[in-house]
Amino acid sequence: AKKEGRNRFLIFRDDMEGANLERLRLETDLRNAVSRGQLRLHYQPQIDVQTGSVTGAEALVRWQHPELGTVPPIRYIPLAEELGIIDEIGEWVLRQACRDLTELRSRGHELRQVSVNVSALQLSRDFVSVVADVLEKNRLAPDSLVLELTEGVMIDNDDGAMRNFTALRDLGVQLSIDDFGTGYSSLSYLTRLPLSELKIDRSFVQGLDQGTKGGELVRGIIAMANSLHLNLVVEGVETAEQLAFFSEQRVHAIQGYLFSAAVPVEQLQGLLSPGHFA
Ligand code: C2E
Ligand code: CA
Ligand code: CA
Ligand code: CA
Repeated sequence: AKKEGRNRFLIFRDDMEGANLERLRLETDLRNAVSRGQLRLHYQPQIDVQTGSVTGAEALVRWQHPELGTVPPIRYIPLAEELGIIDEIGEWVLRQACRDLTELRSRGHELRQVSVNVSALQLSRDFVSVVADVLEKNRLAPDSLVLELTEGVMIDNDDGAMRNFTALRDLGVQLSIDDFGTGYSSLSYLTRLPLSELKIDRSFVQGLDQGTKGGELVRGIIAMANSLHLNLVVEGVETAEQLAFFSEQRVHAIQGYLFSAAVPVEQLQGLLSPGHFA
């Protein structure tokens, strides 16, 4: 009967019904992904280009689907948000990332911090409690944890969101704005939020290749981050030319395929050995 079901699935694939079926299946499977142990974390190192040292690593979740293989996050993170299960996935990611950091340090690796992506929908009082709990369980200094939020969190910029931000900052964790410059919210939130970092979006890095205007824009962002005393991390650096631009601009850290894609924690260990990127 199972085989027959699969055949039927194939027959419908090309039409609307097929697309709906596939989505339904993805939904069902995603609801079970955490309990079935199908999620993994990969880590992308962040490099201080002045010293060549790894300053941190961003945790990026991977879903290992038994039949579909590795499903990219853009296919299931928005779906998880829609289904209301992003909390569960996000909590798993947070706990795993903190366990991994603790484990790496216990093996003698020096890693200052780990960054975790947080969906705007996760931001709640419960989430603040989970963060407090996970820090305590792992006996982690709170500033070892960086929470990356997108500008979207500021769109329904209510008191509740602000209270949660403040509660997180009071715990001592670092808050970062991810994909900076791609949202359409007013920049005034930059002075109101207790932030420690901005991550400049990859689209700006690509914009550099398109001529001088792109460079001016990026220089403006860097100047602004500096004047607000925010660390600036650049994501998506792929070429030596892009690297040259940003090392001259003295940004704090660079992330990108030029140095490394996101890798399993076992592989990250090798990248943490002193001098690897120097
Ligand atoms: P993001 O947070 O902006 O993460 C950066 C994405 O760019 C990652 O894709 C990373 O693998 C990719 N990337 C890094 N360096 C380069 C580069 O040099 N060139 C190019 N072309 N790409 C690069 P990934 O892992 O597919 O993640 C996509 C998005 O999914 C993330 O974008 C983030 O928004 C979301 N995501 C991933 N993990 C989580 C998670 O645990 N929770 C939540 N809420 N979202 C997550
Ligand atoms: Ca991110
Ligand atoms: Ca990003
Ligand atoms: Ca991005």
